[in-house]
Amino acid sequence: SDLDYEDDEKDLKPRPPIVTVMGHVDHGKTSLLDAIRNTNITDGEAGGITQHIGASEIVINDKIITFLDTPGHEAFTSMRSRGAQVTDIAILVVAADDGIMPQTIEAINHARAAEVPIIVAINKIDKQNANVDRVKQELAEQGLLTEDWGGSTISVEVSALKRIGIDELLEMVLLVAELEELKANPNRLAVGTIIEARLDKGRGPVATVLIAKGTLNKGDFVLTGTSYGKIRAMVNSKGRRITTATPSTPVEITGLSEVPEAGEILYSVEDEKMAKDLAEKRRQKIKDESNKGTAR
Ligand code: GDP
Repeated sequence: SDLDYEDDEKDLKPRPPIVTVMGHVDHGKTSLLDAIRNTNITDGEAGGITQHIGASEIVINDKIITFLDTPGHEAFTSMRSRGAQVTDIAILVVAADDGIMPQTIEAINHARAAEVPIIVAINKIDKQNANVDRVKQELAEQGLLTEDWGGSTISVEVSALKRIGIDELLEMVLLVAELEELKANPNRLAVGTIIEARLDKGRGPVATVLIAKGTLNKGDFVLTGTSYGKIRAMVNSKGRRITTATPSTPVEITGLSEVPEAGEILYSVEDEKMAKDLAEKRRQKIKDESNKGTAR
């Protein structure tokens, strides 16, 4: 699209990794995300509420990791069907008492299709009937031979419930992120992906954007799907008001004309007229296509 362009290699700067937690139902995805968020409550916000904007920023060893809050496969399926690829690293949760299950295999397939590296979190190791070796055997059968078995798949034994192994898991995420050399140009008009959106009674359309490249500023004119507007306010994952958002940052925005759909790409544009005209063009195109459909 004319709204986006390839950046020069020399303009690229390191950016934080964006991580999705995947795995079979009840294997502990939600619990693991809770445990991860809990390691990260600093003194200043002790007892404080983390804002729910659909993604969290975790700081470990002075480095940031962005976690998508919605576990599961949506991040890969609905978003990829729109051409948006938001995840850099997948954490595959496998319960040590249950082993590889159908949705575990689905998750592996999604991550592979997206060419996203997998870190395995072998969860529930606190349980009496946990069997880590069996999980590693089953992983090997799926082509994921763990490092201690001579392969290249990183696995970490964790208990989301007892908060065991969480720091080690986060360190592994940073290690893999470093190997991936994730970069983006922060000095350009922003491009991002809508990961959540809703209509707020008081604030109107509210959307969370995950910035892919460039910097999004308060007051910027944006276009996403058939929605457009001028960014009125931005809130980060800690619930604080911010005025700029750089690559890999999730940010909640207000000021859009209508509620966009998750997976839609958001573009910063030069001026409001351009945003409005493009949104109108897109709306007209959708109308024409649906008319064509009924004429047939
Ligand atoms: P999800 O469906 O993958 O999101 O799984 P949940 O996080 O909802 O966890 C499913 C169940 O497993 C809940 O009852 C959790 O309390 C439990 N659970 C999650 N992690 C652990 C763990 O490390 N140890 C034990 N014993 N139970 C866990």
